[in-house]
Amino acid sequence: MTVFTHFAAGALIGYFSPGVVSASLFGLASHVVLDVIPHYDFESVKLEIFLGVLVLLILVVTRSYSLTICLGGAFAVLPDLENLLWKTGKLREDQKIFPGHTGIIPHGRKTGRMSILIQVVFVVAVITYLIWSVG
Ligand SMILES: [Zn+2]
Repeated sequence: MTVFTHFAAGALIGYFSPGVVSASLFGLASHVVLDVIPHYDFESVKLEIFLGVLVLLILVVTRSYSLTICLGGAFAVLPDLENLLWKTGKLREDQKIFPGHTGIIPHGRKTGRMSILIQVVFVVAVITYLIWSVG
């Protein structure tokens, strides 16, 4: 799944988490679940980073964040750090450790670009919900 989808899912989980530990663990677990679902990933690392930061900035600017929201979002995105290092040539395929990226847990098949629309709708819904609930 794209970074901004992972971040939004983790942020939402963080919102509903009773504490920082559960927000972090469930945020991390959400990465596995979302990567198993068939999806489209952007080829551009810069676009991935830009959209992820954009979601974070929207939550910050609208004051729609808390520690658990930030931790949930951060831990949901964390595994893709190794994808970033791999895509930029700083990590080899065999050096990946996250089960959803090594093949231990099968990665969802690649779909067409239209599935980005579903991710955008999800992210906009999460941002809207968090702004209404927290901001
Ligand atoms: Zn991933």
